[in-house]
Amino acid sequence: MEMNQPSRFDAIVVGAGPAGATAALKLAEKGYKVLLLERGRGAGSKQVFGGRVYAELLRRVFGDLKDAPIHRWVKREALMLADGDRLVAVAYWTANSTSFTTYLGQLTSWIVERAVNAGAVFVDEVRVDRLLVRDGRVVGIEAGPDRVEADVVIDAEGVNRLLLERLGLVAKPKPAHVALGVKEVIRLSEKAVTERFGLEDGEGLAWVIVGSVTDYLPGGAFVYTNKDSVSVGLVLHLDAAVRGLRAHVHELVERLRLHPLLRRYWGDGDVVEYSAHLTIESPEFIPKSLVHDGLIVVGDAAGLLLSTGLTVRGVDYAVFSGFLAAEAVDCARKEGGFTRDVLSACYEQPLRRSAVYRDIVRRKRASKLMKDERLFRDAVRFAVKAASTIYELGEETPKLAEALEEAERAARLSKLSLALMLIRLVRGL
Ligand SMILES: Cc1cc2nc3c(=O)[nH]c(=O)nc-3n(C[C@H](O)[C@H](O)[C@H](O)COP(=O)(O)OP(=O)(O)OC[C@H]3O[C@@H](n4cnc5c(N)ncnc54)[C@H](O)[C@@H]3O)c2cc1C
Repeated sequence: MEMNQPSRFDAIVVGAGPAGATAALKLAEKGYKVLLLERGRGAGSKQVFGGRVYAELLRRVFGDLKDAPIHRWVKREALMLADGDRLVAVAYWTANSTSFTTYLGQLTSWIVERAVNAGAVFVDEVRVDRLLVRDGRVVGIEAGPDRVEADVVIDAEGVNRLLLERLGLVAKPKPAHVALGVKEVIRLSEKAVTERFGLEDGEGLAWVIVGSVTDYLPGGAFVYTNKDSVSVGLVLHLDAAVRGLRAHVHELVERLRLHPLLRRYWGDGDVVEYSAHLTIESPEFIPKSLVHDGLIVVGDAAGLLLSTGLTVRGVDYAVFSGFLAAEAVDCARKEGGFTRDVLSACYEQPLRRSAVYRDIVRRKRASKLMKDERLFRDAVRFAVKAASTIYELGEETPKLAEALEEAERAARLSKLSLALMLIRLVRGL
């Protein structure tokens, strides 16, 4: 699609994900002339996520979320350790909820619609080929035959940050810093989702499953209940997958969908979507600098994702950074321009001081521990063997100590090494 737009804006935002859409909305609300560009058809068509968004930062940025596309409020969580057709589950149930399930495309479209209503110009099906640089300063974008200039460009291109790579600001992603996510959306009736998962109307759940579901490789499976569908998928740390994955990742997803203990929930549903995407697994993905002369980097492109193994926060962080970028444009105007130093003071430093950023970097050690394959193989086998010895009884009822010894033998992992591993993990997480 040809852009057919004026050739100068106050700000250009590249990528209509949650980060870019929020930046465009907040800039338009402040009265700036802003152009939001997206390579996909409509907002959100190219985005992939598991299924759950934490609400607190969104409320701070958007106010109440009454008209947001919320599917279900998550009130039940579980961590499952799966070893073939046995699994141990640790569940958490609450009457309160701080997160909701949704389709990312719907959430992003909701933000983009607000941005357009506030005066932002949104053009889809335009792939930005490069950032225009003059005298070492980013002055706009180039998309096919079109060149558009602006005082500042906000890079919200997501995890595949080719524009930043071309500019020499970041290197190609290392397999140790990213993971591959694959997801299916399985359509069921709203009633089936509510009843089969033991929920009430409007209630949702989130499960994380580790162990045999990823062939015991670092990563895990996730399950989120939407209004009338279930999102089921896997995340595999890329370096471990390259080294140790024996099956095709699609087969793993298929195995998960047909898992003997899980298929009762969604086995008769229709798979209506299949998608795959990279995601961030390490704070080391964060670029050295989040600004450049004329440029602000937000969302996944800035490495703003926190995956603890139990929870994932990327969308709310993307929204938060898009919001900060819009504030920074105001601040830079007042401080005399969009130089790297001013943008650093107005965007990078406030972001690095924020709880969001601090939470990401203080998990650096944990993100290394989460690559320990013994955690996903031996520890899982240990727990499942101990549980099966305790619960699957014949004539004899083993004592707890005997069950643990049995588990030690089966998992080839001593209680002491397991305890040390868990202590390190708990302290890191
Ligand atoms: C499998 C998986 C599960 C996840 N689960 C969760 C979860 O449950 N909860 C959560 O909070 N987060 C989750 N995340 C992370 C979350 O999806 C991201 O953190 C979030 O989408 C980042 O938002 P963003 O706007 O920075 O980037 P994106 O959402 O990736 O959006 C970037 C946009 O830029 C566009 N674009 C890229 N390059 C160009 C270009 N050159 N020109 C024009 N447009 C361009 C893309 O088409 C895309 O629309 C998950 C991610 C994956 C992969």
